[in-house]
Amino acid sequence: MQQKLCARSDTIYINPSGGSMSQEFKPIDAKHCYTCIQWDGQRTWYAEKKVVKVDEKKEGLCRVFHKNVKGDSVCDHFYPIK
Ligand code: SF4
Repeated sequence: MQQKLCARSDTIYINPSGGSMSQEFKPIDAKHCYTCIQWDGQRTWYAEKKVVKVDEKKEGLCRVFHKNVKGDSVCDHFYPIK
């Protein structure tokens, strides 16, 4: 289930579910904040393996909306890392 959080005229979809607080490897083609260049959360990007090591439940600053969002959040303004 997703919760809507409105920021200006745009919308961020927040996943409010809990979960483990450990980092996992995630594919960089997943369209979540943890694979967006605008997300300032803690992560490690392994370009050669095309994965990101991240705790998707931790928050980081979104430089577009100027709000903290969880790594597994999604929105319509997604800027993929490459
Ligand atoms: S622009 Fe969207 S996808 Fe990127 S970090 Fe901000 S909320 Fe997440």
